This record gives sequence, structure tokens and C-alpha cells, in this order.
Amino acid sequence: MRKNSDATEETRILEKTLDSLATRRDSHMGIYVLLLILYIVSAVTVSLTAGSQKVIMLAGNPVSVYTFAGTISSVSNLCIVLMVVICGKLGFITSVAVLLIQCPMLIAGIVVKGNYTSIPGIFGNALTIVAIIVIYFKNRTLDKSQKKLREQATTDILTGLPNGFAGTELLDELVKRDKPFALTTIDINGFKSINDTFGFDIGNKALVEIASRCKKIVDEGLSGTLDFLSRINGDEFSLVIRDYKTDEDIVKTIKTYENAICGKLCIEGYEFSVNASFGYAVYPFDTNTRDSLISFSVAAMKEIKGINSSEHIMHFTPDLLQSQSSLMMDNMVRDALEKDMVYFNLQPQYDMDHKLRGFEALARMKDVDGNIISPAEFIPAAERTGLIDSLDSKVYRKAVPFFGELIKKSGADIVLSINTSVKHLMKIGFVGEIRELINECGISADRLEIEITESIMIESPEKASDCLNELKNMGLRIAIDDFGTGYSSLSYLNSFPSDTLKIDKSFIDKMNMNDSSQKYVEAIISLAHVMDFRVIAEGVEEPEQLETLRRIGCDFIQGYIWGRPLPAEEAEKLVIG
Ligand code: C2E
Ligand code: MG
Ligand code: MG
Repeated sequence: MRKNSDATEETRILEKTLDSLATRRDSHMGIYVLLLILYIVSAVTVSLTAGSQKVIMLAGNPVSVYTFAGTISSVSNLCIVLMVVICGKLGFITSVAVLLIQCPMLIAGIVVKGNYTSIPGIFGNALTIVAIIVIYFKNRTLDKSQKKLREQATTDILTGLPNGFAGTELLDELVKRDKPFALTTIDINGFKSINDTFGFDIGNKALVEIASRCKKIVDEGLSGTLDFLSRINGDEFSLVIRDYKTDEDIVKTIKTYENAICGKLCIEGYEFSVNASFGYAVYPFDTNTRDSLISFSVAAMKEIKGINSSEHIMHFTPDLLQSQSSLMMDNMVRDALEKDMVYFNLQPQYDMDHKLRGFEALARMKDVDGNIISPAEFIPAAERTGLIDSLDSKVYRKAVPFFGELIKKSGADIVLSINTSVKHLMKIGFVGEIRELINECGISADRLEIEITESIMIESPEKASDCLNELKNMGLRIAIDDFGTGYSSLSYLNSFPSDTLKIDKSFIDKMNMNDSSQKYVEAIISLAHVMDFRVIAEGVEEPEQLETLRRIGCDFIQGYIWGRPLPAEEAEKLVIG
């Protein structure tokens, strides 16, 4: 066991925290000495000038030296008052002492030397003493209430532990000192059910009991390391561990708290079991900033809580961040769908003579703050969470009616391509959904093109083939998206009722780099034509790519060179002008 005498350091840091909340009137030694010297100099000058009969010439006029005594005496009184105001108790004692010493000296001057000019000085001193007593005691009351306020701001009222603010202040200070320490986030498991079952009052008492058990470890240094515990909120605590030798020491310390927290609690005759999850991150090895240290330890805590194993302690590892951000993105997609933050852009597709073929509808999403999120993030999240079909449908429900109106208004001979996930296509009712959409929007089926990826051919070729045949019979067009990135099996291609092949951007990017890449694209186009497909080159950005594609017989292009994905209104302008 280690006696926690170093805990005074924690207290000092906490004091600093308290001080940062309000200006304290502590003794300021430098100012004190300066004021004292100034006082002595002015007091001596007053005694030298007060009885002087000398006359000096000022701007050609004779002035008696003793007339300066009053002014200098005001300076000395000011020093006295400032000493009390700035230097607190020390200033007050010094001021009273010098004034009390001065009085008999002045009285002696009157009695012995008959120096009656000192009489106002005695009154002045008496009044100054009264003034500084009033100032001093007023300040003391103010100081006390300020201290109380400061303590309240850094103490958790329920448990008496330092609160979250004090905890983060300590972290800031430790990061500044740049010495290793571990931050542990502790969360009581199933605390909500304690509250729900036994009521808030028992819940609060349970927290107080847990806090006092942990506080005992901190105060008595029972863990063998130097610890600082604060309550962040609700059932969440934060533990800073210092002065450990090995990583095992950190775990040993956490286990000490685990043993104290976990087990039976008996509150007002009710008995229940409690356990907690502990996640920790180490400064500076895991990260060297306060905020990421906090979020890393929270990530580790959440991970171990989610695993639901008998093990309750976890050290942060970088892969947790991935799952954390994935989790956040998953929730964001859910939110965006619920709050209708999903919309669409339209990217134009052109034939090689720059005549508009139509548009591809691309899903776009904003978070609750209105920030645009990249499809590279939200499409995989929608797939992960099984919400991709809802996302597809959201885009269809918005883009297809808009497109139907656009055709009605413009009479343009254009096509709308919509992306379809494998999961969505495989869903019973997909064909019905599309049929309904076409009927509701009053557009002819051949104006709609369903984009599917090659993976569908591997995952469930027969079902996919049936579904696509049905769509084809309805008159829709079928496009194979991102061709070349998946299985690229031409035999599969042959058995699918598709009309269009979209060559993936990665092939277009490489196309002009070497001869063989170009030949590869050329071969795909030729074979596609043999199979009666039209070919769209995706992601065309350079004039050289456009030239090559023209030369090797590509039918259409879709790329930034002629058009980025556009908001609906701009797409409309492109068609209507
Ligand atoms: P995609 O279907 O292959 O769509 C083409 C992607 O390439 C779009 O990216 C488009 O903005 C981008 N692109 C087009 N031309 C260029 C170019 O010249 N340069 C570059 N750098 N990029 C270009 P976006 O909008 O980020 O979409 C990414 C993917 O997300 C889409 O690839 C598609 O697979 C998927 N997606 C988009 N909307 C939906 C949707 O409503 N449902 C489903 N299931 N997937 C969607
Ligand atoms: Mg597409
Ligand atoms: Mg594509």
C-alpha cells in the first residue's frame, strides 16, 4: 500500500482550478514590499517637511515646504489602503501596525516639540484605521463567498467528488507537464435499470456509496498509484492514474476500483448487484491531446460495455475509432432518412457529339447541422445498416417525379438512370415499387434505366435474372454499373437482359497511360457492341480521354469534363435553357 501523501499535489492543482475561476486576493509579495517602501519613504518625507519653515521658489513664486506635507501624507495613506486591498491579511496587519506606531510618535511631537501641525495627521491616521478595518472585513466576507462559489463550481454536489470541469482542468495541466498518465472512463453498467426499478433516490444513494468507496482508495492510496477521481455526469466517472511503472500497474489500479465498485450494494434495505465498464487510454502513447484522450477512453469503455463479457476493462486501440466513426455514420444515415435529409443530384450523360443522353440520379445527404456527407461514407453505412433500400427508394421518390415533370415541360428525349443496390433488387416487391413509380409519375418505362453492379450476377444470378427480365418486359432499360471492378464475367453478361455497360472510371483513368490499358478498354467496347450493349465511359475528365474514347467507338460519356452532378434546378436549366 502506498500512502497518498502526493495527493497534496492534486489538491494544489485543484486549488489552481479554483483560482482560475475567480481572482483571489492572496498576498502579492512584490507589490507588498513596493507599497511598504513607498509608505516608509512618504512617511519619512512627511515628518521632515511638516515642521519645516523653509521656502522654495516654484515658477518664480515663494512656496513653504510644509505645504507639500499634506500631499505626501495622502500618498502614504493611499499606500496603506492599497496594501489592505491587494495584500489581504498581511497588508492589513502591516497597515494597522504602522498606523498605531505612528500615532504615539505624532502625539509625542505635539507634546514634546509643540508641533501642532501634526494634529490633523492624528485625525487622518484614526480615520484611515477605521477605513482599512471596514475594507478588510468587507473583503474577507467577499473572499469567503467567492471561495464557496469556486468550490461549488468544481465539486459534484451529490458525491462530493471533483466534477467534470475539475477533471478536465487537471487533464489540461497534466498534458502541459507532459508526463505519462492514464485516463480511465468508468461507466456503471445497467444504472438506468437501478433508477427505473428502485427510483432516483436509491439510485443517487447508490452513486454516493460507489463514490465513497472509490474516494477511500484515492485518499488512502490503496491502489499503489497516484489517482484522481471525478464524476463526469450521471453514472460516469473519470479516473486519472499516475506514477505507475508498467502497463500492468494501470490495470492493477483499475482492478482495485473494479473490486470496490462491483458486487453487492445494500441501500435502505434494498440489495442489488453492480458492475462497471472501464476504458482507458494512455498519454502520450495513445494520443497527446486532452480531447482525443477523453474520446479514446470513452471509445474503449463503450466497446467493452458493448461486448458484454465477464471482462470489464479495455485499453484503447486505434481500430475502435473505426468502429466508433462507423457507428456514428450508421446513426447519421438513420437520422437523415427519418428527418428527410436525403436528396439527389443529377449528373448529365452525353453522346460523343455532346448531345444530352440523360442523367444519373445520385444520392446526397446532409447531417443535422446541414453539412454535406460524402456518398463514399454514407452509401457503405446504409449498406451496413440494411437501410440501402430505403435510401434508394428515397432517391427514386424524389428524382423520378422531378424527371417526369421535366420531360413533360421540355418534351426532351432523355433517360434517367437510377442506382439500385443488390439488396434492394432482391427484395420482394422491387418490381412492384418500380411499376408504381412509373404509373404515379406518368413517365414511359423506357425513360428509366436501372443501374445494377456486377456483384448481383454472382450473388443470386437466377433471382436477379428473373427480376431483370420482368423489368425489361415492362420496358425499362438495364445498365451494368462500374463494369470491370467486379467479376467481369462476360458469360454472365451474356445471360443478363442488359442494354448498357458503364465502364468504371478506374479504366478510363489508366487508359491513356499505356497502350495495353487502352487496348483493354477498346476490347470491352468492341465486345459490348457484339453483345448489343451501348457503352458509357464513367469519370471522363481529360480532353485526351474524350478523344481516345471517340476514336475507339465509345457511345456515351459521363464525367466532369462535360458535367458534374448538379442540383435539380440546374439540371432543369440544362434541359430547358
Ligand atoms: P456510380 O453509380 O458509379 O456513380 C458515379 C460516381 O462517379 C458518382 O459519385 C459521380 O459523382 C462520380 N463521377 C462522375 N464523373 C466523375 C469524374 O469525372 N471524376 C470523378 N472524380 N468522379 C466522377 P458519387 O455521387 O460520389 O457516388 C458514388 C457511388 O455511390 C455511385 O457510384 C453509386 O455506386 C453510389 N450511389 C450514389 N447514389 C446512390 C443511390 O441512390 N443508391 C445506391 N444504391 N447507390 C448510390
Ligand atoms: Mg451508378
Ligand atoms: Mg459507376
